[in-house]
Amino acid sequence: MTSSGIVADIKSKLPVVELVGETVALKRAGSAYKGLCPFHAEKTPSFIVNPDRESWHCFGCGKGGDVFTFVMERDGLEFREALTRLAEKAGVELSAQSAREDRRRARLREALEAAVSWYREVLLRTPQGERARTYLQERGFSEETLDRFSIGYAPNAWEPLSKRLGSRGFSDEELVSAGLAGPSNRGGVIDKFRGRVIFPIRDQAGKAIGLGGRILPGLEGPKYLNSPATPLFDKSRTLFAIDLAKASIRKTKLSVIVEGYTDVMAAHQAGFTNVVASLGTALTGGQVELATRYADAVALAYDVDLAGEAATQRGLLEELGPDAAVSKVRVIRIPAGKDPDELIRTDPDAWRRAVEEAKPVIEYFIDRAAAESDLSTISGRRDVAGRALAVLKRVGDRVEQDLYLQHLARLVNVDERTLREALER
Ligand SMILES: [Zn+2]
Repeated sequence: MTSSGIVADIKSKLPVVELVGETVALKRAGSAYKGLCPFHAEKTPSFIVNPDRESWHCFGCGKGGDVFTFVMERDGLEFREALTRLAEKAGVELSAQSAREDRRRARLREALEAAVSWYREVLLRTPQGERARTYLQERGFSEETLDRFSIGYAPNAWEPLSKRLGSRGFSDEELVSAGLAGPSNRGGVIDKFRGRVIFPIRDQAGKAIGLGGRILPGLEGPKYLNSPATPLFDKSRTLFAIDLAKASIRKTKLSVIVEGYTDVMAAHQAGFTNVVASLGTALTGGQVELATRYADAVALAYDVDLAGEAATQRGLLEELGPDAAVSKVRVIRIPAGKDPDELIRTDPDAWRRAVEEAKPVIEYFIDRAAAESDLSTISGRRDVAGRALAVLKRVGDRVEQDLYLQHLARLVNVDERTLREALER
């Protein structure tokens, strides 16, 4: 069957009223049904389901679609995942190849989940876990936080995990494909993560897709190690803790993106639950896309000085592309010498203020350029204008561009039209 055939088949077997009715209490209204929208807070129903057109629409928040978009929106799934789930529910067989791929992904997921719970056991209940327990305690994390994030510990040995999962029927090939092990020089496999605190990375539905590992102080190796790219794990489309943060992101209409796992944990522990991490310094377009699925605005709180690094700045703008994404991104200014983890711990109110005062990324870049130059000299002003115009070329929206040009014109004391001409050259 073709994929559009499968979609039609699923729709015919899963009436939209029934499927939506599992989540929303629907009342008949003429030929349609009405209920309270599950995607925004409301007291009078503006959420309409139309059985004839197999569709739903909310007049309050503007969301709408079919059974697939409903499940994607409700459970934070990709289309493929929604398709698999609804196919199963409807008893519709997917093609042999995609069924095979799904089985393989499910198998890798099982291996990952087994690893996560074993690492957790090691941290909680073994002598090898002792130093990691002390380390995490000293970092100020409560038992509850460690539990919520399923933090574990990978012992500093060659193959305890591989052996254990091997004895449970996982093949070497599966362990390597799940990113849990690597080939050994002597044949067989060795554990990928050794002597590391383990941070499970999950998708928006809460399923494990990869791991992050921080080396224990005193042991040798790179400080942080992430799972390699696997059929489950694409770092550029993943945000750490999105599963725990998405409800709060919806509510606060903002996702705050930090760099590190421990920044996220400190934030959640202090009650700032709309915080996720980008698994590295370079924010990608895919990550912004994921974050803005739940709220329109994204605020970055990186401890490296983002704007200080011209390369980081260019990289970020290139990644975001000349479209709407760039206008959704704000930058949170963290007081010099601190990282989010530290600031949240020592002064939560300062963190709250910093988030509230986040500046649009373009404005932030322009102001940084201004702060770094001497605006009392002509060469200083020319320098700022040059740097700002290079950034403004990336703003796709003409109105927005104009607003920044006005800002820049005042800053360097040059006529706006002259700047516009320079921009278009
Ligand atoms: Zn709505």
